[in-house]
Amino acid sequence: MPEPASLHDPEVLKHTVLDFRQMSTFVKEPLIFERAEGVHYWDTTGKHYWDGISGIFVAAVGHRNPRVIEALKKQMERLTFAPPLHGGNAPAVAFSARLADLAPGDLNTVKLLSSGSEATETAMKLARQFWKQSGVPTKFKVISRHYGYHGATLGAMTATGTPKRRQPFEPLPAGFVHIPTVHCYHCPFERGYPECDVFCARYLEQIIQMEGPETVSAFIVEPVGNTGGILVPPPEYLPTIREICDRYDVLLIFDEMITGMGRTGRLFAAETYGVTPDILCLGKGLSSGYAPLAATIWSDRIQAAFWGPEQPDIAFGHGHTFAGNPISATAGMAVLDEVLSHDLLTNARAMGDYLGQRLRAMRDRYGIFGEVRGVGLLWGVELARDPATRTPFAPALRVGKRIGAEAQARGLIIRHDPDWFALAPPLIVTQSELDAMLSILDESIATVLAEL
Ligand code: PLP
Repeated sequence: MPEPASLHDPEVLKHTVLDFRQMSTFVKEPLIFERAEGVHYWDTTGKHYWDGISGIFVAAVGHRNPRVIEALKKQMERLTFAPPLHGGNAPAVAFSARLADLAPGDLNTVKLLSSGSEATETAMKLARQFWKQSGVPTKFKVISRHYGYHGATLGAMTATGTPKRRQPFEPLPAGFVHIPTVHCYHCPFERGYPECDVFCARYLEQIIQMEGPETVSAFIVEPVGNTGGILVPPPEYLPTIREICDRYDVLLIFDEMITGMGRTGRLFAAETYGVTPDILCLGKGLSSGYAPLAATIWSDRIQAAFWGPEQPDIAFGHGHTFAGNPISATAGMAVLDEVLSHDLLTNARAMGDYLGQRLRAMRDRYGIFGEVRGVGLLWGVELARDPATRTPFAPALRVGKRIGAEAQARGLIIRHDPDWFALAPPLIVTQSELDAMLSILDESIATVLAEL
């Protein structure tokens, strides 16, 4: 292992590629994490950072949890890999059964995977094969939303609703349709809630009719959208979507990569919003980052099409070498134990309420917060030059990015975009830890405002 100083050497760093980052810029001012504990990180220079975004919506139970680590050490001594083509393994079978038990409704079949993109891709492939072997082979299209993010692999990226993420890789696979998202602050239909009667949800019906219901396999949605600045739906939104999907026999897929495992104050956003999808995708917080882990969970109706007496090609034609890895499944089980036995869901709700109140108080102080929105421990702030008229800042100012960069320089990591920033600390966070994070945020906003 090179010494920490040489890790910062551009000649050493040039062999590394980060996610969605231009490396020529990164090497000039690299951040290299060295260790972490609870809601804290330290980099290789010894500098401390507060983890205001749970890694990236991942570290639900915080970093370096001794009970999770102990469980992993024990599993390391027994079995680190088993071939998913030949057999199951004890941690994966037990964890799948536990997830099925906890998942809402009849979501009883679990495919363990390693990443969120695999989970959403699995869900969309499952939907297509389900319809093929249920006598409706014409149902193949997937509808998703603008601003949605479903992953980086080809199918998941094609379902993703941000053109700039897709353009470098065009032409894309066929059969994907996008509709406007729910965004009450900047309504894509220029309507106002509640008079709109959630037109953005009802619009799905028009699109299904236009495409032809006999061609649509599934609608995929993040119950709370991240891109766009934590887009929290009004209470009627997801129930309306559910009704429309039922009416046209379209499978509803929840991408709960961010909202799952307690982030919204319940184990699943499906519970927070009282809507059960046909397929539910989990990742990120599922293992809290202790090992790569994701899951796709589906209903009894779907599973019935893959069950029954042995027939050629009826099995779900899908798999990954690391699917159901015993170390990852052990991490999932230990994390779930932590979330439930320490009642982190109650803490997420209580600390989330506190965080929301504090952000709203900051809104009055600075006058550049257009909207503060969130649920559980998932909060976003939409920035506006003039909140009264909802006028954004000039794009070139990149105010949200500058606030994020100031915060990072002062030792706080948040998610940031030109027009918004988000906070989603680990579910173990305390009030005093939130206070410390918010005081850095406060200073960062004041500094950027003084420069504008
Ligand atoms: N879906 C959502 C909502 C996500 O936020 C992400 C990742 O950020 C993904 C899917 C893809 O997950 P992964 O990066 O683990 O492939």
